[in-house]
Amino acid sequence: MRVYNFSAGPAMMPLEVLQRAQSELLDWGGSGMSVMEVSHRGKAFVACAAQAEASLRRVLGISDDYAVLLLQGGALGQFAALPLNLTAPGQRAAYLNTGDWSKKAIAEARRYCEVDVAADESASNFTRTPEPGSFTVDQASAYLHYTPNETIRGVEFGYVPDAGAVPLVADMSSTILSRPVDVSRFGVIYGGAQKNMGPSGLVVVIVRRDLLGRARPQTPTVWDYTVQAGADSMINTPPTFAIYLLGLVLDWITELGGLDAVAARNKAKADALYSFIDASGFYSNPVAPEARSWMNVPFLVADPSLEKTFVAQAEAAGLTNLAGHRSVGGMRASIYNAMPPEGVAALIDFMKEFERTHG
Ligand code: PMP
Repeated sequence: MRVYNFSAGPAMMPLEVLQRAQSELLDWGGSGMSVMEVSHRGKAFVACAAQAEASLRRVLGISDDYAVLLLQGGALGQFAALPLNLTAPGQRAAYLNTGDWSKKAIAEARRYCEVDVAADESASNFTRTPEPGSFTVDQASAYLHYTPNETIRGVEFGYVPDAGAVPLVADMSSTILSRPVDVSRFGVIYGGAQKNMGPSGLVVVIVRRDLLGRARPQTPTVWDYTVQAGADSMINTPPTFAIYLLGLVLDWITELGGLDAVAARNKAKADALYSFIDASGFYSNPVAPEARSWMNVPFLVADPSLEKTFVAQAEAAGLTNLAGHRSVGGMRASIYNAMPPEGVAALIDFMKEFERTHG
C-alpha cells in the first residue's frame, strides 16, 4: 500500500511519475534496456537530457541568458562551488542567515572567502525572515546568498531580496518548482532534486552566463560552471536515471497546468494545515505568518511527551515521516508538490482525532 510520505527529502514522488518509470523500466523507448543501462553519450540519452533541460526552461521560464547545469554532489557541494566559481581570492560574499541551511552555507563559504552576514535571524530563533529593506548589501560583494525556504524550521521568504547590482544567489532546494519565480532577478539558482524535482543524486544549477569564466583554478572540474556549461554537464557520467526522472516530473507539472496551477494547489494545502493548527489550542507553529513555508510545516503539541506517540500512531495510519528534524524535535509535515491535497486532508483528520483522544 502507498502511504502519504511527509518526509523532508528524499520526498514523495508523484504516483504518475513512478508508474510511468515502472512501465518503461525494462525496455526504455524500444532500446531493450532500462534508461539506467544506456550510454550517457548515446543519441537516446543525450536527447532525454536535452528534453529535461528544455522542459525545465519552459516550466520555470529560464531564458538563454542562463546556463542550466545538471550536476552531482547535492546542494552541499554547491555551498563550496559557489565561492569557488564566483569569488576572486580576497573578495567578500554576503549571506542572509535565516536558519540551519543558511548557517551551513555560510560555514562552507568561509573556507574559501570572507563572508559578511548582512541579516541574521538567530535573535528571533529563526521564526521570521528579515523585513524587506532592513539590511544593506555591500555593493563590492561577489554575490548575496540566501535560502528562500529553510527546510528544517519551515521559514520561507515571501519576497525576493533586493541585492542592488550584486548577483543574487538562491538555494532553492526545498522550494524550486513550488510556485513561479522571476528567474531574471537571480544570478544563480540551485537546488538538490530530492524534494520537488526527482530523486537524490542530482543538483540543478541555473547560472547567468555573464557569471561564467570566473572560477578559481583549484575549482574541482566537476563543479566548474564554465567547463560544465561548455560540455552540456557531461564532462563525466551524469546521474542519468535522476535526469530522466526530472524530465518525467516536469511532464507531470505541465499536465497539472504549470507552476501557476501548482502554486494554487500548494497554497491551498498549506493554508488548510496552518489554519487548522492556528485554530487549535493543542497544536502550534512558531513561525511568523508572513514567513510560513508552503513546503515544510513544523508543529508542536502542547505536551511534548506525546510526540513519540503522535509519530507512531500517524505512521500506523499511513502518514509517515512526521518527526521533526533531529536538531529541533517536534513534528514536521513536508508537503511538497507531489503530496496530494488528499494527503493533507488525511493528516488534518488524523490530528483532529489525536487531539480528541489525547488533548
Ligand atoms: N539546502 C537546503 C535548503 C536543504 O533543504 C538541503 C537538504 N535538506 C540542503 C541544502 C542540502 O542538500 P543536499 O543533501 O542535496 O546536499
